[in-house]
Amino acid sequence: MTEKSLNDLEQYRTQRCRSIEDNYKEILDNIARATAKRNVENGDVKFMAVTKTVEPYFINHALSLGVDLIGENRVQEFLGKKPELNLDGVDAHLIGHLQTNKVKQIVGEVSTIQSVDSLKVAQEISKVSQSRGLTTNVLVEVNIGDELSKSGIEQNELTELCHEIAELPGVKVEGLMAIPPICETSAEVRGFFAEMYKLFIDISSKKIDNIYMQILSMGMTSDYEDAILEGANLVRVGSGLFGARIY
Ligand SMILES: *Cc1c(COP(=O)(O)O)cnc(C)c1O
Repeated sequence: MTEKSLNDLEQYRTQRCRSIEDNYKEILDNIARATAKRNVENGDVKFMAVTKTVEPYFINHALSLGVDLIGENRVQEFLGKKPELNLDGVDAHLIGHLQTNKVKQIVGEVSTIQSVDSLKVAQEISKVSQSRGLTTNVLVEVNIGDELSKSGIEQNELTELCHEIAELPGVKVEGLMAIPPICETSAEVRGFFAEMYKLFIDISSKKIDNIYMQILSMGMTSDYEDAILEGANLVRVGSGLFGARIY
């Protein structure tokens, strides 16, 4: 590299790191404000930095600021970046759709798989976890907007799926995850989040053995405050922290 391009790279990194710092402070303020304002009870709100497409250099910068939970969508991308990440004391979750044939690669590499939406994938996670003497935490992903294009279990099949997964060894159901449809208004998206909170409370109240409804993962850059107001206790923010994604 020439001296000029090295300088450019240095400058780009410095600026982007500074904006990550500013964004992080602002997001934490927004989370605190929304948490104080909400009418539903659901404990503290956990912040997750969504790191898809982000280079390890910037992920590590976010970790140095105190971020202690990251989420990645793709198994391959996460495993590729993992050796370069400073993950001491940091928890990593898979948040993207998981194909059964990738389960072997991801079990043991993340603490939690947030995107479980079928018995088939849960059975495979159970089988692989058991064979390695591990327990994998999972969230059940709900297709709250009944969108054909989206993954996630249908609302009316959720309770049955929870019962079935609860029977599997090596898997611990810790909550629910959702990505609502793109909405025009805040009121509209809050309606979907409120439905999720209701499902979360319904399942908790059934007291199913081996189901620990603790995490309600919903809300991204455009709507995490709305999600918190309706009861989310884990928000997943990518572009709002790192800047627009470059694919
Ligand atoms: C990309 C992604 C996010 C973060 O999206 P932003 O809008 O960039 O905050 C959250 N959750 C899931 C499942 C994602 O794929």
